[in-house]
Amino acid sequence: MGCSALSAYLVVAVGLCSLLDCHPEAHRYKTQGHRSIFTWDQWTRAVAVGLSNILLFSWFATIPAWQLQRRGGGSGAWDTPLSLPNELACFAVHVVTIDVWFYVTHRALHLPLLYKWIHKFHHAFKAPAAIACVYANPIEFCVGNVGGVVLGPALTRCHPYAAAYWLAFSLTSTSLAHSGYRAFGAEEHDAHHEHFSWNFGVGILMDRALGTCLPEGLRARGGEKIMKRS
Ligand SMILES: [Zn+2]
Ligand SMILES: [Zn+2]
Repeated sequence: MGCSALSAYLVVAVGLCSLLDCHPEAHRYKTQGHRSIFTWDQWTRAVAVGLSNILLFSWFATIPAWQLQRRGGGSGAWDTPLSLPNELACFAVHVVTIDVWFYVTHRALHLPLLYKWIHKFHHAFKAPAAIACVYANPIEFCVGNVGGVVLGPALTRCHPYAAAYWLAFSLTSTSLAHSGYRAFGAEEHDAHHEHFSWNFGVGILMDRALGTCLPEGLRARGGEKIMKRS
C-alpha cells in the first residue's frame, strides 16, 4: 500500500507535473501564472521533504490505522473476494472521512500558535507546485494528511486492493490540487495558498457547510491582481 502512494507521488508530482512545469507555454494554464515557477533548489527541497515524509514518517499513522482495522475484525487478506458495490460504498465513506478530517485538522493548524510551529512550513509555497503537495512538517503530514487518508479504510475495513487504490488516488488527487493547473482542478486549494483564510477542505462538503468557500468577489480581485502582475 505504501508502494502505491509512493508510486503515485513519483509518477504524478515528480514526473508528469514537473515535466509540464518545465515547459514555459504550460505556465499560462496555471491559476497564479508565472508565480508558480520554482527554482531547482526549491524543487530538490520539496522532493526531499516529500520522500522523507512518505518513506520515514507515514508509518506513525499507517501502523495504528492497520491495528484499528485488524481490531475491528478486518482480516486484511489480499485473497478474499472483492465485491465492487461494497468497495464503491467504502470509497464514498473514505471521500467524506478525508474531507471532514482534513478540514478540522487544517483549520486547527491555522490557529496562530500551531500555524507558527507547524503549518507555516507548508505555506512556504504561496503558489504551490505538485512536488510541494507533501512538503509539510512531519506532525502535520502524519496527523492531518496520512491520518485522514488511512482512517477511512480503517473504519470501513475495505479490501486491501481497494485500500491500495484509495492511497494512490489520494496522492494523485493532492498532487493535482497543488499542481496549479486549472485543468487538473487546482483552483480551490491554490486559492487557499494565496488567500490563506478560505478553502480549508479537500472537497466541497465542509467548506460549503461551514461557509469558508472563497467568495467570488475576492477570487475576481485576485484574478485582476495576477493579470496586472503578468
Ligand atoms: Zn493552510
Ligand atoms: Zn497545500
